[in-house]
Amino acid sequence: MVLTDHEPTNPLEAAERDIIALGIAVASIIMLVGTGGAVLPKTVAALLGTGSSPDIILVNALLLNIALIIFGWRRYRELTREIAERREAEARARLLASIDPLTQCLNRRSMFEATEELRARAATRGEAVAYCMIDLDNFKQVNDMHGHSAGDAVLVMLCERVKALLPREAQFARLGGDEFAFVMPFQAGHADRVDDLVIRLFESVAQPFQLPELSLEMTMSIGLAADHEADGTIGLVVDAATLMHRADMALYHAKKQGRYRYFWFEPSMESEIRFRNQIETGIRRGLSNGEFVPFYEQQVDVDTGALVGFEMLARWRSPQLGLISPDIFVPIAEEIGLINDMSERLMEQAFADAREWDDSLTLSINISPVQLRDPWFAQRLLKKLVAANFPPPRLEIEITESCLHENIGLVRSMIISLRNQGVKISLDDFGTGYSSLEQLRNLPFDRIKIDRSFVSELREPGNRSRIVEAIVSLGRGLDLPLTAEGVEDEEILKALKRLGRLKAQGYFYGQPEDADAVRTRLKAAGMLTGGQMTMASTAADEVPSISRIARP
Ligand code: C2E
Ligand code: CA
Ligand code: CA
Repeated sequence: MVLTDHEPTNPLEAAERDIIALGIAVASIIMLVGTGGAVLPKTVAALLGTGSSPDIILVNALLLNIALIIFGWRRYRELTREIAERREAEARARLLASIDPLTQCLNRRSMFEATEELRARAATRGEAVAYCMIDLDNFKQVNDMHGHSAGDAVLVMLCERVKALLPREAQFARLGGDEFAFVMPFQAGHADRVDDLVIRLFESVAQPFQLPELSLEMTMSIGLAADHEADGTIGLVVDAATLMHRADMALYHAKKQGRYRYFWFEPSMESEIRFRNQIETGIRRGLSNGEFVPFYEQQVDVDTGALVGFEMLARWRSPQLGLISPDIFVPIAEEIGLINDMSERLMEQAFADAREWDDSLTLSINISPVQLRDPWFAQRLLKKLVAANFPPPRLEIEITESCLHENIGLVRSMIISLRNQGVKISLDDFGTGYSSLEQLRNLPFDRIKIDRSFVSELREPGNRSRIVEAIVSLGRGLDLPLTAEGVEDEEILKALKRLGRLKAQGYFYGQPEDADAVRTRLKAAGMLTGGQMTMASTAADEVPSISRIARP
């Protein structure tokens, strides 16, 4: 926004300025004309000594007249100056309200106007505009770990880097937090120029941010939208609001695809978001309606073929969408903060189901990294076990390698307190994440689960997988039992048998099934206890304390 002192456009404003001062001046001038016409020539003649002296009263009136004109004129000047100052102050206030105080960029409010203006200007030249949303990845961690002043410094530096690369006419704004946007004109049909710029932005932001005491590496995600189609034809979207909304959807998509990337808006993103919103509202409703149910997948001893336990896998029985897999709803439940609630309800059901099974059968439960951020997770889980009177040694918690990046200290103490009560901890999907050997050695895991992407290699000619063999020998070296996931056919099973002493699970043994199907299966095998323990302990008024859980 430019500070300009323009002419008043409001007639009332103009009148306000003129009315008093001009009134006085005009009245004085009229009087001067009236009296001055007669008195002035006489006075001049008297001064030159060629005439008689004029009437003294009239001379005084003339002088008073002149004084009034000077007064009126000065007053008029003063008023004009005051009004100019006031207008300048107003413009400054408007400017302050339109810029971000930290970075001095535009803010969300002013960006809308700036985008509309730029779009209109570009349109008159036949040019397109691109609107670009930028969001720093994991910026919250910078604030949390290094404090807000470090976070602020990163934001200011980021602004400078972005501004340095933007074309002259571009407008750049901080929309809030770690979210920025710019809008720039480009030659219609040449969106690749915008791509080039975005790539340079990624390169620039990838340079470490040097702060007095530390150096930080940051990445960002970007969403782009243009008001022209890729071929240069004018699109249907022609207003700033749609442009911004589309860039936002593209940014959301970039984040969902794993961050540190950019996308141009595509119409499919809109339906993707609509579907996601549908799932989100469905989850909220489904939770209160008890639509989330545990399914169970058999876990078997490879050598003996004996059933040793089940892994609980969540399913959503949605009345509208049918049976939904956890890959779809778990990430959304994590995002909207409902994973704890969902998981705890599933656990309660699973403990109740598994109590009816033979005591020798274990129950494995998947725990999301989000749940492990809660320092009271272990305490709450143990309380649930006590309330359900479920023996801790029959429970296995499965955590993935991604849990280990978050807060290793917290995860470690949680693992230790659960193990102290007899709960076992498995490292799930091993090999797909980034756990180090160091972590494997230092964290007291009870089991490694070999991811099915590696296990499926055993089906290939030769029935060997170097990775599976390496993981097996690693497990043996660290004295950690192993489970192979995704055993889909006999061939894989045979290959696993050659590797010896493993547990396995997979579609070869059966698809995951609900509690009723499991009960029928166990009944046929004579492995149902009938849940006698249930009767003994669920009196609501007598929930034993954690300290009373038997050590294994
Ligand atoms: P996971 O822990 O790796 O679970 C194994 C997944 O592989 C399950 O998918 C299972 O149905 C599937 N599977 C089992 N055997 C085979 C096979 O032989 N071939 C193939 N192709 N697939 C097989 P599902 O049930 O869709 O679960 C997907 C993921 O969702 C799970 O992967 C787990 O990470 C997560 N999950 C499931 N239930 C929960 C839960 O209650 N809480 C949390 N946080 N995550 C859960
Ligand atoms: Ca698992
Ligand atoms: Ca797994």
